Amino acid sequence: MLFIDGKWRPAASGREFVSTDPASGEVLGSVADAGVDDVREAIGAARAAFDGWSRRTAYERAEVLSRAHALMLERRDDLAERMTREQGKPIRMARAEIGYAADFLSWFAGEAKRVYGETIPSSRADQRFLVLRQPVGVVGAITPWNYPVSMLTRKISPALAAGCTIVLKPAEQTPLLAVEVFRLLEEAGVPEGVVNLVTTSDPASVGAELVTHPDVRKITFTGSTEVGRLIARQAADGVKRVSLELGGHAPFIVFDDADPVHAAKGAAAVKFLNTGQACICPNRLFVQRAVAEPFLATLEERFTRLRAGSGLEDGVTVGPLIDADALAKMERQVADALERGARLITGGRRLTDDGLDAGCFYAPTLLADVTPEMQIYREETFGPLAPVIVFDEDDEAIEMANDTDYGLASYVYTRDLSRAYRSMERLAFGMVGINDINPTSAAAPFGGIKQSGLGVEGAREGIGEYLDTKLVGISI
Ligand code: NAP
Repeated sequence: MLFIDGKWRPAASGREFVSTDPASGEVLGSVADAGVDDVREAIGAARAAFDGWSRRTAYERAEVLSRAHALMLERRDDLAERMTREQGKPIRMARAEIGYAADFLSWFAGEAKRVYGETIPSSRADQRFLVLRQPVGVVGAITPWNYPVSMLTRKISPALAAGCTIVLKPAEQTPLLAVEVFRLLEEAGVPEGVVNLVTTSDPASVGAELVTHPDVRKITFTGSTEVGRLIARQAADGVKRVSLELGGHAPFIVFDDADPVHAAKGAAAVKFLNTGQACICPNRLFVQRAVAEPFLATLEERFTRLRAGSGLEDGVTVGPLIDADALAKMERQVADALERGARLITGGRRLTDDGLDAGCFYAPTLLADVTPEMQIYREETFGPLAPVIVFDEDDEAIEMANDTDYGLASYVYTRDLSRAYRSMERLAFGMVGINDINPTSAAAPFGGIKQSGLGVEGAREGIGEYLDTKLVGISI
């Protein structure tokens, strides 16, 4: 069902599409398949609801978000189980994602009350300046499948806190979770038309309508760089505000003063956050020669200990890839690297034993002797593959790390304060973890530079993406 103007209803065409469990291929349910007419109606509802919602006090808007926060935590186990079924991540990680998703509701409930303006001194004695911050209007949001609940609340929470209304198109692979999030918002008391959900199997037409419709003033997108570029081009004609959270190619640098065993444990943990399907997963691991051996040995030991299967089973740490295309990409990248001289340490094959052939499982894969000619050196992998490169000089590592069009997350392991500072200042990435594999929080700005995106989400800055600045000059 679509959620438009506070009502659940089928698509105008009556069409539906199914959502499946990526671990087993089992059909989990079906949802309405929206077309262009449906999205237009959703935009109309959001436009009509805007005046009323934006005029509510910040306190009233915050209260609704706080109720949604409480409901999400109450339903944490149920939502996590649904997430593991529809998206595939192991249940412990799904529970962690629900916590992260709920944090955005709570954080922006607070920020709603801190949308401050300014007064600015004028050079004229008879003039005063005021700066007002006002909601931009109707927001069009498009989200990916890999974090199917938190990527929704990361957009909905600041939009609603600022006083905007929203039309959201979730990913095709995880529409059932989006429906659960909107049911929760409805129960939390979000007024009719303030949040609208359009599930669709036709992202190109529905996306284009959402992005180009004149009543939509702001576009917020999380997904691949390729689609992000297209959306930026489509939004340009209407001169719309655009935020883009795109792909990444995170370097993970281990200097020779770091504890290589500790660093390897960290690398394995962040690589397997979501079976490698996270934008902040390391894509190239650079290790200094003196510590390369223990680093690789620990990684190998960790990788071989990981267990693949349905994320609902105890002890499973590796879920399925989202679909056959993701599996094919892994196979292509690994074959290309081996052909060009990479050394396979472990993995390198699809997993099909014990019923795993029903899903798209790939063995945790460690490759050494990786070089810049290989596809994995530049392409985002989005799977359980860790390519390792040994380096000698500090500068060489930073230069190789920056040799990418992406600029989202990066990681450095060192106990040397000077190396840590030099690295954080020189790495051309929006986020740097120093001996830290999780530099993310609802309270901290998340965002990429270069072709990893525009703008930030979360944090004090996050709400600014949904506010216009208005200057008022007053002669007195
Ligand atoms: P994607 O293929 O770009 O899809 C993202 C969203 O865009 C989906 O809802 C998709 O709909 C929609 N879409 C596809 N084609 C479209 C079009 N022509 N017009 C409008 N919308 C369109 O990305 P994904 O595979 O879902 O997600 C993985 C990517 O997201 C990775 O690159 C990852 O790094 C990135 N990501 C970034 C962040 C971040 O914060 N920077 C966070 C998470 C993920 P369909 O599902 O129907 O195709």
